[in-house]
Amino acid sequence: MNALPANWIEIVDAFGAGVYVLMAATHFDLWWHRRDRPSHFWLALSATGALLVNTTGALARELSPDIPRFLAVLNMLGVTLALVSLFELVQTVGQRRSGRIVRGLELAVFLPTLAMMLTGSASVAPALYLLSLGFLVAALFHAIRDATRGDPEARTLATGLVLLLATLIYDVLSELRIVARIDGAPVLGFTLLFLSAARALSTRYDREYRELVALRADLEQRVATRTAALGEANLQLGILARTDALTGLANRRSFVEQVNALAAAHRGAILMIDIDHFKRINDGHGHDIGDATLRAVAATLRDALRPGDVLARWGGEEFIALLPDRDRSDALGVAESLRSAIAGVVVAVADGTLALTASIGVATHTATQALDDSIRNADRALYQAKQQGRNRVVAAVEAHPSLDRSPDPVVWSTTVVGDRENHDLR
Ligand code: GH3
Ligand code: MG
Ligand code: MG
Repeated sequence: MNALPANWIEIVDAFGAGVYVLMAATHFDLWWHRRDRPSHFWLALSATGALLVNTTGALARELSPDIPRFLAVLNMLGVTLALVSLFELVQTVGQRRSGRIVRGLELAVFLPTLAMMLTGSASVAPALYLLSLGFLVAALFHAIRDATRGDPEARTLATGLVLLLATLIYDVLSELRIVARIDGAPVLGFTLLFLSAARALSTRYDREYRELVALRADLEQRVATRTAALGEANLQLGILARTDALTGLANRRSFVEQVNALAAAHRGAILMIDIDHFKRINDGHGHDIGDATLRAVAATLRDALRPGDVLARWGGEEFIALLPDRDRSDALGVAESLRSAIAGVVVAVADGTLALTASIGVATHTATQALDDSIRNADRALYQAKQQGRNRVVAAVEAHPSLDRSPDPVVWSTTVVGDRENHDLR
């Protein structure tokens, strides 16, 4: 090849050395930071092997014909290292692990080098080159098989291996003078191979990263959906925990929660409402009629009160209401209207409708008073209403600052409607 400069082989060797050093350094570094990516290690080791072949070859050429034994040994070691590492690289890209036999073979490839080191005879060299080449062919075989199974990185790697093999074959043919001699063809082959391997690794890890990002986004989405569902379920649970299942009114706990803040800042009135002789309804007409009565009374109370009033089922057949910002006479008026509304509740039974009455205890509340005290006062007034014959409203006497306890309740109104009782029919 007359067209090539006289120092062509030095140029090629220097170029190759640059490529191999960069490859080895970069990929050892990448592997050092990510030990879970052994592909970088094998690529770096292969580049180190190629660098060894390159530099020992150049030195041998300089020293020829008196080539020291260690140079020949190192050269062989380089070949073995480069090709066995390539094989391992293909294995790791294909997510395979070499079996024991393969590992044994890999070690066996180094034996001729050892023999050469000890005996100084280079006669084992051809066997070594052949064995190493066997690994290159095996690597190519695996890469092509992975590529045909749809692995894009294996395809890139297989391309590089084919190019390397082509340059090696060309080198052998030119050695045999079958084709024109171009020194340094394998350098070009290794350069192309390392470039394609580096490309394969970067696309592989980029792909894995993007898959991970997509997975994380998917997980975050799922967590968000679950959190929202959980929040909604919690909300429903919270509502359920604060609602009386039978009447749909607030329950006792919810009443106390709602009213605590209100009672601490406002004056108003507490009404304790209890259906008279309710037990008789259950006993005389059955539990279902009792339930229907409770629902009907609850609905009546709800309709009769203002939006700002707080109504709840206190327990059993007792209801409680807080009327904010109402004075005593307002509250008594409301209580009386509730009493008469309950008396008008119609509950159908088999042979007609039920006659209902209720007793109501009223207590005023001031912001400085404890809510519990106001409720207790209303309860005592209710007790008085029951004592005095039921179907009436009784108001507790307003507490006076000079008294250290609430006075006994007094009857404010006794609206007794005939002698009828709850178990009677209208
Ligand atoms: P009073 O006039 O003194 O208030 O007498 P009463 O019968 O109304 O009161 P008592 O406390 O003796 O009975 C209340 C009854 O209410 C007893 C209980 O079985 C009944 N009860 C409590 N909760 C429910 C319920 O959810 N459904 C039904 N059907 N009955 C209930
Ligand atoms: Mg009752
Ligand atoms: Mg009761």
